[in-house]
Amino acid sequence: MGAAACVRACPEKKALVVVNGAGHLADAAGCIGHGACKSACPVSAIELVFGTARRGVDLPEFSPSFETSSAGVYIAGELGGMGLVANAVRQGVRAVTAVADDLQKKRSGSEDAVDLLVVGAGPAGLAATLMAKERGLSCRTLEREASLGGSVLAYPRGKIVMTTPVTLPLYGKVRLRRVTKEALIELWRDVVKVTGIEFEFDVLVTGAKRVDDVFEVQTSRGELRARRVLLATGRRGKPRTLGVDGEELSHVHSQLVDAALHDGEACLIVGGGDSAVEAARALAERPGTRITLSYRQSAFGRVKPENREAIEQLASDGRVRLMLGSQVQSITQQTARLKDAEGEHVVDADRVFVLIGRELPNKLLAGFGVELRTYRGEAPGFV
Ligand SMILES: Cc1cc2nc3c(=O)[nH]c(=O)nc-3n(C[C@H](O)[C@H](O)[C@H](O)COP(=O)(O)OP(=O)(O)OC[C@H]3O[C@@H](n4cnc5c(N)ncnc54)[C@H](O)[C@@H]3O)c2cc1C
Repeated sequence: MGAAACVRACPEKKALVVVNGAGHLADAAGCIGHGACKSACPVSAIELVFGTARRGVDLPEFSPSFETSSAGVYIAGELGGMGLVANAVRQGVRAVTAVADDLQKKRSGSEDAVDLLVVGAGPAGLAATLMAKERGLSCRTLEREASLGGSVLAYPRGKIVMTTPVTLPLYGKVRLRRVTKEALIELWRDVVKVTGIEFEFDVLVTGAKRVDDVFEVQTSRGELRARRVLLATGRRGKPRTLGVDGEELSHVHSQLVDAALHDGEACLIVGGGDSAVEAARALAERPGTRITLSYRQSAFGRVKPENREAIEQLASDGRVRLMLGSQVQSITQQTARLKDAEGEHVVDADRVFVLIGRELPNKLLAGFGVELRTYRGEAPGFV
């Protein structure tokens, strides 16, 4: 109807444009799921969907209040299917608001149970823990790693995080848009200091048993009891693998930790998402590196526009050899064999980074009785 509110609301700037006075989708790949257009549209004309008829996406099913098919178990953040730091924060806040409202109506369970157990200390778990404190819930937050930050902590050193402003309970508005990974983690540490929230690190949550109205949750440090559980574990389960010979060799990695450790090396990066492209960009900046990027699709359909432009520029400058439409056949100590429409190629590879995503933590979800649903172009309940 021509309000164009979606165009103004979109943080990506080039994904939506005004044509003849109305908002139009100009670059579908430029949409990375902020959902700002949907919220801004005055006539609810926009729907965000997951998957396509041809390519389904498995996601845990949950309601607009973030409660899953397993009553009392909630989900926030990337585990629910929507990436981005700001989305994780907003969902962590909204999910705990729903938990607190629900507990106000029906608080039950024995006295030794905490109101809320949060699993994961990424942005969703951090925001959830803050909200739990703001709402006066007794809460424990368990994290399998040794410190706060989730996926952000695992980004390559110096990575620029692109985000949008968010409001953190008990702390206030955080107006960051472009920030280094290190500065973002530092800010979160300040949030912890200022608000006095607590985390328990190096604790892996493995499953749960429901006994009456309480969850008996199994962890690597024994059992604990909680009235409600919020799974904020992200989707970084087991890294996906290629299933080719040589993948088990020690120079094959599922993550780039620090590009500076690979000066002078021939690096093969496999994948076509933001992780793969950003790894290629970071490695291409290092002295003496020779970079090949292998992606099985013929174009980068899923990456941020900035990443797409940068990788195309690096390819045309000869800094990155792009092998689109190629598949890795095998890996040896210093080379990898790739196949594309033109035949087989052997490329130098002192290092191989297989950055093709991670499995959904299905076992953990099953342990909490959460059912999965395959989305084929349908809208999830929470957006
Ligand atoms: C390379 C890369 C670049 C990215 N760049 C950007 C960007 O520029 N801007 C942006 O907005 N987003 C970016 N993202 C996405 C963003 O990092 C995620 O969407 C966001 O971190 C999700 O937050 P989360 O809290 O849901 O999950 P996570 O950040 O993944 O945190 C989940 C936490 O749960 C813990 N956990 C998991 N299982 C268990 C268990 N069983 N027991 C205990 N703890 C557990 C994990 O150790 C982890 O600390 C990027 C992601 C990657 C991988």
